[in-house]
Amino acid sequence: MIILVINTGSSSIKYRLYRMPESVILATGIVERIAENRSRLTCTCGVASHEQDVQAANHDEAMDLILQTLMQADGAIIGGIGEIGAVGHRVVHGAEEFTGSVVVDEKVTASLERYADLAPLHNPPNLTGIRAAQRSLPAAVQVACFDTAFHTTIPEPACIYSLPYEIYEKYRVRRYGFHGTSHRHVARRAAELMGRDRYGVNVITCHLGNGCSITAVKAGRSIDTSMGFTPLEGLVMGTRSGDFDPAILFFLAEKGYDMASLNAMCNKESGLLGISGVSNDMRNLTELAAGGHARAKLAVDIFSYRVRKYIGAYTAVLDTVDALVFTGGIGENAADVRARICRGLTQIGIEIDHEKNIAVVGTEGGISTDASRIKVFVIPTDEEGVIARDTFELAAKR
Ligand code: ADP
Repeated sequence: MIILVINTGSSSIKYRLYRMPESVILATGIVERIAENRSRLTCTCGVASHEQDVQAANHDEAMDLILQTLMQADGAIIGGIGEIGAVGHRVVHGAEEFTGSVVVDEKVTASLERYADLAPLHNPPNLTGIRAAQRSLPAAVQVACFDTAFHTTIPEPACIYSLPYEIYEKYRVRRYGFHGTSHRHVARRAAELMGRDRYGVNVITCHLGNGCSITAVKAGRSIDTSMGFTPLEGLVMGTRSGDFDPAILFFLAEKGYDMASLNAMCNKESGLLGISGVSNDMRNLTELAAGGHARAKLAVDIFSYRVRKYIGAYTAVLDTVDALVFTGGIGENAADVRARICRGLTQIGIEIDHEKNIAVVGTEGGISTDASRIKVFVIPTDEEGVIARDTFELAAKR
């Protein structure tokens, strides 16, 4: 079965075409700047890649352009749209309702409309993507895969905030967590690498990319995660602050900052960028830090310290920990940051082998010493692959 996986943003559609069940990637690409004067379409198939300016006035037109490209590319990747059996959609917020991936029907789209205010930047475009795919590929099964689903097993003590309980009852303000497909994938893969049952292991998974989150996985299920009601809480990220005292916002409001500027400050001007003043990119920062740039070093130090602190907290909540996993652009590639994070964790059973750590960059591998009680793995994330597999499983049942 051929499956199209799409991730729809407010002005873009990222896509990846798979042949399942082999999980062979047939093509990947993106349409960007939708509804602007000139949109841009990229399509990569094997080593061949092409980019072109296109007219895409809306997401429907962008979707049609993607399908045309797949049919017209050199050696046409698909013969006709009828070959696409299902479309898997990345949906950011499934609230408390969606505990796993689902086939989209009218009830699902009505729920997604209802949850728009929980993820106003993401859910409405995700729904637009679903509608565009329903229109262009009416015979295909549409499947929604939620960033929040894996975290719906988090128990109340970890997901209810210590605010007046009515705030939860009235507005459903609670911890939801995100990056769920990534945490689920790497936790399952760590169990495989240890030759253990996926529901028999306790794992701490660190997704460190532009957005960063860490999850405590007990017996294969998420029991706590660092992102909260929104992706702002928790670790230091590229431009998001992560945890800080919320009273700082009241203090700054008194100084004249309005809500829009505080929102932009916390989400777009903080984190690695805000601390360093120069970059949100860990590659730049580690280079600058090595060259003596004090605030770049401070940014990397605060970033690493915060991850270490959460590893300690999640070690406490998990009773026993079998493995620690690094994934995401930083987790997969930045050996020096992994080493900083794990420094001083020997007392809780985490010991990195420096040679192995340096050798594992952008690939899968174990990086702990033989003596380390907790195994440490680097496992590349594969959110699209997980969506393709979930979509295939649900579509194959029909
Ligand atoms: P996103 O969350 O947008 O998917 P990624 O997972 O691609 O982002 O992660 C982006 C981050 O990964 C950036 O901070 C980038 O600097 C970092 N990164 C990528 N490659 C390396 C590398 N070789 N060394 C250090 N950091 C890296």
